[in-house]
Amino acid sequence: MPRALIIGSGVAGPATALFLRRAGWEVEIFEAADEPDGYAGLFLNLATNGLAVLDQLGLRERLIAAGHPAPEMTMWSSSGKALGTVPNGPAREPERGSVVVRRGILHQALRQAAQEAGIPITFGARLERIEETEATVRAFFADGRTAAGDVLVGADGVGSPTRRHIDPHSPAPVYSGLVGLGGFAHVPGLAPTPGAQHMLFGRRSFFGWLVRDDGEVYWFANITHPAADRAALRSVSAEEWLATLRELHADDPYPVPQILEHATGDVGGYPIDDLAHVPRWSSGRVVGVGDAVHATSPSAGQGASLALEDAITLARCLRDIPDRSAAFAEYQRLRQPRAEAVVGYAQAINRQKRVTRSRLGIAIRDAMLPMFLRKARDDTRNDWLYNHHVEWEAPAVGHRSGSGAR
Ligand SMILES: Cc1cc2nc3c(=O)[nH]c(=O)nc-3n(C[C@H](O)[C@H](O)[C@H](O)COP(=O)(O)OP(=O)(O)OC[C@H]3O[C@@H](n4cnc5c(N)ncnc54)[C@H](O)[C@@H]3O)c2cc1C
Repeated sequence: MPRALIIGSGVAGPATALFLRRAGWEVEIFEAADEPDGYAGLFLNLATNGLAVLDQLGLRERLIAAGHPAPEMTMWSSSGKALGTVPNGPAREPERGSVVVRRGILHQALRQAAQEAGIPITFGARLERIEETEATVRAFFADGRTAAGDVLVGADGVGSPTRRHIDPHSPAPVYSGLVGLGGFAHVPGLAPTPGAQHMLFGRRSFFGWLVRDDGEVYWFANITHPAADRAALRSVSAEEWLATLRELHADDPYPVPQILEHATGDVGGYPIDDLAHVPRWSSGRVVGVGDAVHATSPSAGQGASLALEDAITLARCLRDIPDRSAAFAEYQRLRQPRAEAVVGYAQAINRQKRVTRSRLGIAIRDAMLPMFLRKARDDTRNDWLYNHHVEWEAPAVGHRSGSGAR
């Protein structure tokens, strides 16, 4: 039985492990964190296309039940004017819309499914380097442990050491100019927002929120910030971030200041990076999946869904194409154009989110966005994001997944 070493137990790692196991591989997951992280940083949008992959792992319904279905997003101006509503899923099909779920719940569901399938997950295993021979690939971990396999899959996120092994000249992630913050709150009297998320182009920062039926608020903010230094950002306390946010949003309409007033707990504070084009996704016995080879900023709400699509696609290629190099090449050919198109789409959104100091700039944006958003609600221009379907049973060879290259 061929054996795969999977590095990383975020989204792409356990999903790849599950599909490879289904294809008859022996798999083991190695995760740098010392223990499973039940919080794992906020929440994310599981898009229709990602839910379609989770469906094939038997996890879709569970995640919908644990999440907040949000087939629509309503945009607001800083003066409290509704700019328009856009679908968060295929146009005119709200029943196939996306779902917002706590990241920890998604991680836990995938991890539990892997454990139920008998896939070992070793925590506290930080990959440091990789060595390859004709016959095997060996992973070396920070604690001195090593492991050997036929293939190593780097699902180790945007800072991936696997990517650097594949190509020491691979590009580094690029900072978007935005810092992401967010958390949870209970605001007395704030009504639930069934079926929707709300986004506000605030005067000095971008803000998003939803209210679950039980009154729990999920919120996030993207602030325009010069620093991309992760360590410096991490040294800012939650209280300091909240004080900054309360000031930035003080003049924005209800319920934004009220949400920030009641926000408690961790608020993150991470630079929003992306990785638009990685020329090489594999070399020898090593291949990358998910953010390791194409990180998109959260603005598209697609990072986790792309990671899930990679997982099923790579496993199908390794199942159906006997030659390993050919399987890796086909996997990259099937995935790269779509992943890069999604990163570009998110970059275009980020340009709108970055705050312009000019009043004229705000006025032009608020005048233009309703026209753009009115069109967006009814047309199908973003359906390529959501209708991409990768079918496990379909043979990888000679098959073109989903709706064309994108
Ligand atoms: C705050 C935030 C909000 C987001 N919102 C959304 C959203 O709304 N919708 C969406 O789809 N996506 C969103 N994303 C992006 C999404 O989370 C990622 O695209 C997705 O998690 C990628 O999955 P992954 O498995 O490739 O990487 P990750 O989830 O980052 O997992 C990588 C794993 O590898 C481990 N690791 C790293 N280095 C090593 C090493 N050396 N050795 C061993 N293990 C290692 C890490 O600890 C981690 O567990 C958001 C991201 C952030 C940060």
